[in-house]
Amino acid sequence: MIKRFERFDISNFFDEVQAPLVLLDAEDVIFVNAYFKEKFQELPEKWKDFFVKDEVREALSGFFENHQKIKTKAFQPLFDKTGLRRNFQWDFTNLPSSYEGRFLVGKGEEKEVIPEKPALFIDDPEDYSQQEIQYLRTILNNTHDLIAILDEEGNYKFISPSVGEKLGFSVNDIVGRNFKDFINMGVLEVAAGDYKSTLLTKEEVNINFWIKGKNGERMFIESFAKNLLDDPYIKGILFSARDITELEDIKESLSRSEEKYRTLVEESTEIIFSISDRFILTYVSPNVTQFLGYQSSEVIGKSIFDYIHSDDMVKFQEMSSEANDFLVDNQFLEFKLRHKFGGYRVFSSNGKVTGGNEDSERLYTGIARDITELNEAQNALLEQKEKAEQAAAIKSQFLSIMSHEIRTPLNAVVGMAHILMNEDPKEEQLENLRTLQFAAENLTGLINDILDFSKIDSGKIELELVPFDLRTTLNRIVHSYSFLASEKNLELKCEIEEGIPESLIGDPVRISQVINNLISNAIKFTDRGEVCLKLQLLEKENDSVLVHFRCLDTGIGIPAEKRDKIFELFTQASTDTTRKYGGTGLGLAIVKRLVELHNSEIEVKSRTGGGTEFCFSVRLGIPKTKMDSTIEEGQHRIRSLQEARILVAEDNMVNQILIQKFLTKWNVGDLTLCSDGQEAIEALKKEKFDLVLLDIQMPIFDGFEVAKFIREGEDKTRSQVPILILTAASIHEVTDQMEAIGINDFVPKPFTPESLYDKIVGQLKNQD
Ligand code: ADP
Repeated sequence: MIKRFERFDISNFFDEVQAPLVLLDAEDVIFVNAYFKEKFQELPEKWKDFFVKDEVREALSGFFENHQKIKTKAFQPLFDKTGLRRNFQWDFTNLPSSYEGRFLVGKGEEKEVIPEKPALFIDDPEDYSQQEIQYLRTILNNTHDLIAILDEEGNYKFISPSVGEKLGFSVNDIVGRNFKDFINMGVLEVAAGDYKSTLLTKEEVNINFWIKGKNGERMFIESFAKNLLDDPYIKGILFSARDITELEDIKESLSRSEEKYRTLVEESTEIIFSISDRFILTYVSPNVTQFLGYQSSEVIGKSIFDYIHSDDMVKFQEMSSEANDFLVDNQFLEFKLRHKFGGYRVFSSNGKVTGGNEDSERLYTGIARDITELNEAQNALLEQKEKAEQAAAIKSQFLSIMSHEIRTPLNAVVGMAHILMNEDPKEEQLENLRTLQFAAENLTGLINDILDFSKIDSGKIELELVPFDLRTTLNRIVHSYSFLASEKNLELKCEIEEGIPESLIGDPVRISQVINNLISNAIKFTDRGEVCLKLQLLEKENDSVLVHFRCLDTGIGIPAEKRDKIFELFTQASTDTTRKYGGTGLGLAIVKRLVELHNSEIEVKSRTGGGTEFCFSVRLGIPKTKMDSTIEEGQHRIRSLQEARILVAEDNMVNQILIQKFLTKWNVGDLTLCSDGQEAIEALKKEKFDLVLLDIQMPIFDGFEVAKFIREGEDKTRSQVPILILTAASIHEVTDQMEAIGINDFVPKPFTPESLYDKIVGQLKNQD
């Protein structure tokens, strides 16, 4: 067949076409192009055996026999070399007339998808009925969907095998029977929808039902019924159904869990809510009613700002303008919300920002708890606390003022007793003077205790860190009790372990206070035996030591149940203690706090065989250089004092007299006394002094002002003169001012002759 066409030399041109191309004459396929040959199986010789569809055959014959134009496009598949069927749509053109005879060129264009109407459904089904039936049968045999056709009475005309399979019946068992039979048999249980309604409408009707499967399991079936009674082929009601039991189960468990969460939310004591980025309430749990009176539907969609108290609004606005992302940054909030029937309730909320992607909106979801009552209680508590603090502050201020006030006259009494006793009193006066001195010193001690306690209690005491000789300090204390101890026939011992360094850094005043208290108690509560102070070295490092202090006695002991109590303020072990031994119950309260200030704790134990032991450990620093020898110092002092010119400014006449008496007794070279700051400044302008002693509280100019005048003056010798101040305040109350002005040291009131002497000599010596 190909030969006939070889004389035409357009084969090359056809061969270049990248699609299957055939050339036909009146009967045969006379040429196929290179592309065709390469890819597809050979064609039959007669084109009628290839183009099998009548309309195509007719169109082609019409062209060859009657010169009719071809308008038809034909679908005709080709089988490729691998045997695969591929769909082509063919387009026909006649060759130019210069060629002998009439030829037709057919060019195939591959169609990826099956043509709109599959080959099976082309207009005339007759030709394909066998194929079509097979096709449908295969579909029906393999579908999981349940297909059934029922007649007007509800008798099954047709079912897909899947229906029988599901129910455990054969197809023949079902077809011909009425659906009601299956209801009676308990196989079918219609849940929704009505068969009759399908007969009245051409619309699709949804009928859902339960069926019992072949193993007795219940299945939920969703079906759609369509009235096709008028359809010439079907003539019945077509049911298309599927098993949605799993879906139904999921739905059911979903609704159960939804129900559970709804109850949880509704009965929760917290309101659950969500707000959008723009503060719109997108969800509020229904229990909002019980807290705020609103229905949740009333508030959903509204802005939270519609309900927030104006005070919080300002706060929220400030916060939202400061923070980049208000809701992310403020997961815990407190705010007041308006109640539907008036008033505000306080809520605290905490929540989290969720969503904010393509699938879900960005929301702040949280819980809000009504804390109105809690808040009120808190406020009341806070108010009480403030009141209590105020009262405590007033109390400690009162104590402090009173003690200061009492100290000044007391100072005079103590001082005068000293002076009188040194002025050769008559024998009968001496005893009275001793009583006076004892009482005055006792009173001073008590006042000091009260003041001390109120200072410690209000946190006004800080420990000093100065070099001191621990052994000498303690030996002196113990020694000062030797008279008292010997009067009671008690042995008084002080045992300090060898390794404890002589010179240490700490607060000698506070440590002495603790030891003084413990020893005086021990002596007081011991009638026979001994009182012993024992020091042990627990640890030694380069720059510090840990020292264990024990104060032991063989006295009356303390009952176990009272051991904690005795450290409380104004508490004694037994009610007759005051009567028998005196005391106020202040001492141990102070001791406890002072030991605590040293980061330690005091313990009390019973001693076997009777008596009490108090113990605690304190860490003390080791100074880098050794302290100066004190012997040399003593001689030096006397010389300095005799040459010294001292200015004293003190407005209290009794104190003036006291100081004058003491200084004269110590042979001070030259003493100038002034009664106020003004006088002192005048004197300073005229004379030169080696030391200035200033009372702080003075009329016209107080001590600080005079000190300032001295330090700020241009006269070099005057501006560098040592300044001591006299004060009833504690060192901590005046440290800042002293440092700012440049005051060298201070003498606490009431002063003992020793303390005044030490401070004056100390300054003069520094000057040398
Ligand atoms: P005061 O000694 O002024 O009564 P303290 O606070 O110093 O107050 O002591 C409180 C109480 O603890 C004392 O009243 C006493 O009952 C008891 N106490 C203190 N030290 C001893 C001791 N060494 N032996 C027995 N009892 C003591």
